[in-house]
Amino acid sequence: MSELKIDTRLWSSKARNLSPYTPGEQPQHDNLCKLNTNENPFPPSPKVGQAIAKVLTKQADDLRLYPAPESEDLRKALADFYDLDLNQVFVGNGSDEVLALVFASFFLKERPVLAPDISYSFYPVYAHTFGIELVQIALEADFSISPDAYRQPCSGIIIANPNAPTGLLMSLADIRKLANEHSNAVIVIDEAYIDFAQTEEGSVSAISLINEFDNLLVTQTFSKSRSLAGLRVGMAFANASLIEALTRMKNSFNSYPLDKLAQAGATASVLDVEYFEQTRQQVIDLRESLTAELTALDYQVLPSHANFVFARPNDGDASAVASALREQGIIVRHFDKPRINEYLRITVGTAEQHERLISALTALRAMST
Ligand SMILES: *Cc1c(COP(=O)(O)O)cnc(C)c1O
Repeated sequence: MSELKIDTRLWSSKARNLSPYTPGEQPQHDNLCKLNTNENPFPPSPKVGQAIAKVLTKQADDLRLYPAPESEDLRKALADFYDLDLNQVFVGNGSDEVLALVFASFFLKERPVLAPDISYSFYPVYAHTFGIELVQIALEADFSISPDAYRQPCSGIIIANPNAPTGLLMSLADIRKLANEHSNAVIVIDEAYIDFAQTEEGSVSAISLINEFDNLLVTQTFSKSRSLAGLRVGMAFANASLIEALTRMKNSFNSYPLDKLAQAGATASVLDVEYFEQTRQQVIDLRESLTAELTALDYQVLPSHANFVFARPNDGDASAVASALREQGIIVRHFDKPRINEYLRITVGTAEQHERLISALTALRAMST
């Protein structure tokens, strides 16, 4: 097959200078053990499919009409779930879209945005897309995030908590410190994995701080803890003024980011509290058993609060392990980046997937010793 030669003559300079994000691969083979993109191993609540089917069948006329532009039912369900006002909740087409609107709404200023040097790799992509300077702040030696390292002028700070790919959790006290010390910057906490965090203090979501700090914004997603990566729904929580900026930005770009099926399915997911609690606890338990099994194989495993673990094989040759696993149809994520290239990010899977992974790693170890 001859390769298509792309002609960029008619492209804007903006289009020519983009550097798009590369998502983790989605290979289509049978019998693949896919532990590379942090999807939930469990299906979504059965109520989700029922709600979507209802839109498709009972109200046959529904898809002819535009969806609710401001997704009121879904936002109301989220507001009730978190005990917030409706005007403190925003939803979008995946949290990636919500984050794009956040960058455009709050970070397009003279001052740079700050983010950890090791974190979600979409942040530098958005900064580049919008022409925003992003200053990367180095993680501490133990991969933790220290608020003291962020003491410099900025338009905002964006931190994934728990962080990816480390899985480490920042305390609410540290988030409070950031919000206090940067009162004229927007502090964005990306809580894609927060539902998997488990500490003695109970809930560690920064949503509990948004009534206290008018410069704090929290994003979350249905893709991980709610098993709905394919539906594309994400959300933001903040005081009404920050949410209004996001709403205006959305309506200057796409008034209908969530279709009717997504609104119905996501709302049903929020209302099925029991299923949510059950599956997220199962993922947490599976993470703990995976951590123990990897530790028994001499892996160094960071204490994860997410639905993945970040683990270093004894000899540090993570790249070789990733290739050997791939030959057996087991896909994990390896980042060829300084400081983290000796680690693998392994998504929490089902008990059967863990068995397959651990027996492959056990065989590998037997071969190398
Ligand atoms: C998965 C992930 C997202 C993206 O979530 P979507 O809602 O699927 O777009 C955002 N931030 C982090 C840190 C993630 O890991």
